[in-house]
Amino acid sequence: MEDHRFQLGPEGHRWLWRYSPLKGDADGWTEPAKRKVLINSSLKHRSRLECEIHEGLHASMGTFVVSEEAVTQAASDIAKILYSLGYRLDPGKSACRRP
Ligand SMILES: [Zn+2]
Repeated sequence: MEDHRFQLGPEGHRWLWRYSPLKGDADGWTEPAKRKVLINSSLKHRSRLECEIHEGLHASMGTFVVSEEAVTQAASDIAKILYSLGYRLDPGKSACRRP
């Protein structure tokens, strides 16, 4: 699966954004020390969008102290808004293309 790199956060640090099968209950991980985001590659539709927003918020906010609950609520709300407005993954740009 294709990796992505984004400049995120107030300092514009370069982050690795990767889709991968994840073990355990988490749908995504943000590793600030490695500037790396992992998204469960089995997620689809709105749950994937919500996870991408959630981990993107963690990466973007860097060292700002924001509770997990606040990030979870914000990601849920933003995903609901965007999904209701019709935002969907462009199949031609899917980050989870399988060989
Ligand atoms: Zn989180």
